[in-house]
Amino acid sequence: MCKEDDVALVRQRMGRLRSLMDAGGYDALIVRNNADLRWLTGAARVFDDEVAHTAFVTQQGAWLHTDSRYYGSFLQHMQDAGSWSLDMEQQTHSEWCAARIKQERARVVAIEDTVTLGFFEDVQSELNKVSCACLMPRLHGDLALLRLVKDREELGLLRAAQRITDEAFTHICDFIRPGLTELQIRAELEGFMLSSGAEGLSFDSIIAAGPNGANPHARPSARQVQEGDLLVIDYGALLGDYHADMTRTVCVGTPSAEQLRVYDVVRRAHETCADAARPGMGGRELHELAARVIEEAGFGDCFNHGLGHGVGIEIHERPSVGRRSDDTIPIGAVFTIEPGIYLPGKFGIRLEDCGVMEEDGYIPFAESPHDLLSVGL
Ligand code: ZN
Ligand code: ZN
Repeated sequence: MCKEDDVALVRQRMGRLRSLMDAGGYDALIVRNNADLRWLTGAARVFDDEVAHTAFVTQQGAWLHTDSRYYGSFLQHMQDAGSWSLDMEQQTHSEWCAARIKQERARVVAIEDTVTLGFFEDVQSELNKVSCACLMPRLHGDLALLRLVKDREELGLLRAAQRITDEAFTHICDFIRPGLTELQIRAELEGFMLSSGAEGLSFDSIIAAGPNGANPHARPSARQVQEGDLLVIDYGALLGDYHADMTRTVCVGTPSAEQLRVYDVVRRAHETCADAARPGMGGRELHELAARVIEEAGFGDCFNHGLGHGVGIEIHERPSVGRRSDDTIPIGAVFTIEPGIYLPGKFGIRLEDCGVMEEDGYIPFAESPHDLLSVGL
C-alpha cells in the first residue's frame, strides 16, 4: 500500500471522529487513551504502556502534546503528520489542555472517561487559574466504538500478524515431544514468532497440557507433556500494534475416543457460529448459538466463558461477544470465535480463530486447520 493511501485512511478516521463531535455538540475533544491515539494518528510502534500523550481535537485543528522521548518517533511514524501540531512544551498535560481550551475558546470539551480522576481535577483547577470555564461531558468508549470497524490498513496488519501465528503453529507441532515442559514449548513458540517478524507477543501465551488445559487461563508450568495429553495452545503475534489471537488444541500421540468426541462438539460449536455469523447479529446471539450446541451435547456446565471478543489495537476490545453482550456486529468488525469445553481433572479443549465480518459473513484470518492433530510421535 502506498503512503498516500495510508494518509487517506487516517484522514477518514479523523473525519469519523469529527462527525461524532458534530453529533454530540462538542467544540473539542481530549483524548489520552493510547489505543485511541494510535488509531487516530496512525503512528505505529510509538505507543507503550505509559500515559504520556494528550490529543486536543477541534473541527479545525488537531494538537498532540507529548514529551521529548517520543517526539522524534511521532515525527517519523505519524501518518498525515501535516494535519497535526506536535507539541512538547515543558508544561504538564493539564496546563496544556487548559491553555488549548482557552486559546480555542472551546465551550464544550468532551473528555474520555478513561482519564484518571486526578488528571480530570487537574484540568479543572488549571482552567480556574486561567479564568476559563467549559462544560466537560464524558466520552464513554465512543472512540472504541469507532475503532470497532476496521479499515484496510488495520485488516492488512491483522492478517500479517495471523500469518506469523499460523507459521508458528506449524513449527510448534513439529517441535512438541513427550518430556518437554509447557514452559519449554512456550519459549520455542514465542522465540519462533519473534524471529519470524513479530514485533511482540499479543499476550502471555497459554500452553496447558492434560488437566492444566481444564483451566481456561492456565499459566505455563514445569509440567512435562505426556503421551495422551491434549495441549491447549493460545497465543498470537503482535505487528504494527495489532494483535493476532488463535487457539489450537493438539493431542500428543493418538487421541482417545472421549477426547475425539468432546473435540468434535467444540469444533461443531465453532463452525456453527462461524457459518451463521452475519452483519447485524448480536454478540449475545452468537454466543448463545455456541452455548446451545455445547449444551445439547451434554456439556452445558463446561463452557463458562464468553464466545469471543473484538481484536485490534487492543487484544480485548469491542464488540463483546458473550452472554452479557449488547453489541451488534457490523461489517468490518474483527472478533474471535473461541468456544471451549473444560473437564476438571481431565483436559480442556478450545478452538479459536480471529476474523472479520464481511457482507456475506465471517471470514477467519487463520489458515491453521481445525482438525485435532496428533503431534509428538
Ligand atoms: Zn486466544
Ligand atoms: Zn481470544
